[in-house]
Amino acid sequence: MTIIDAHAHWYRMDMIWPPEMWDFIITSFATLSGGKYNEEEIKDIYCDADGSRLIRTMEEAGIDKTVILPVDFGVLYDEPVIDFWEMNKRYSELAKKYPGRIFTYFGIDPRRENAAYTFERAISEFGNIKGLKIYPPTGFSPSEEICDPLYEVCEKYDLPVLSHGCESAYNEIQYGAPEFLRDMLKRHPKLRFVYAHLGWNEFFTESVDLLKDYENVYGDISGWQSFSDEQILEQLAVIEQNIGSLDKVMFGTDAPNFDVWTQAKPWVDRMKAIALPDDVKRKILWKTAEKVHGI
Ligand SMILES: [Zn+2]
Repeated sequence: MTIIDAHAHWYRMDMIWPPEMWDFIITSFATLSGGKYNEEEIKDIYCDADGSRLIRTMEEAGIDKTVILPVDFGVLYDEPVIDFWEMNKRYSELAKKYPGRIFTYFGIDPRRENAAYTFERAISEFGNIKGLKIYPPTGFSPSEEICDPLYEVCEKYDLPVLSHGCESAYNEIQYGAPEFLRDMLKRHPKLRFVYAHLGWNEFFTESVDLLKDYENVYGDISGWQSFSDEQILEQLAVIEQNIGSLDKVMFGTDAPNFDVWTQAKPWVDRMKAIALPDDVKRKILWKTAEKVHGI
């Protein structure tokens, strides 16, 4: 069976966050690991200069294809050493270096000037963009009108939008909550939309309502590696009871964000072995992502 990781990231210390934020992240993760990793080891995990760690992780875990998602934090914080355009370009180049294995989205904060024009330019210049990644916890609602031109570009090129879909510490207002999506989903009934993490903990119930109410909404279970098998099965059962199948659910690691606790291999192995029928696992681990991301 092909395994697709429908939600991962690629980090380097000169992109995503400015240097002082990177220092904070490295110190925090060393502390959060409970002494398992020191700061140098954390740097090795999170700063993957040439993408070789990502490929190695995929090989170890038996992941055939990975979708990497660039996140634009440059409006919330200072710009990183390289700006969001260059970051997206590097993501695109990494995907080109590993054709058929790594696929990339384009990440942009909708509040940037000429955001839709920039996105459309990337689609034509890079030639391998598979979707749009937005991250509302940086301080915007995905239903604000400022986002619409980006969604229209996705509709024009038949590309999905993937948005962060759970609680977040970046903002007092929880812009990752499902309630902020309803207006835009009403305005864009044909747009393929991925609600990442499926609400994880706090917004799980409302995320099931989203899947139920909007035919075009899908979700990924990245982050769920922090749950027990019982809780995963329980939440998947709630989805199945409400929408009649698990056809809209995709596997994801959110790598390397969870790597200090659970790496990709044990997470893939758990989902391969979990007590679900084989045809359901085939959809979660492979077929749905193939269709939604067009990979
Ligand atoms: Zn993520």
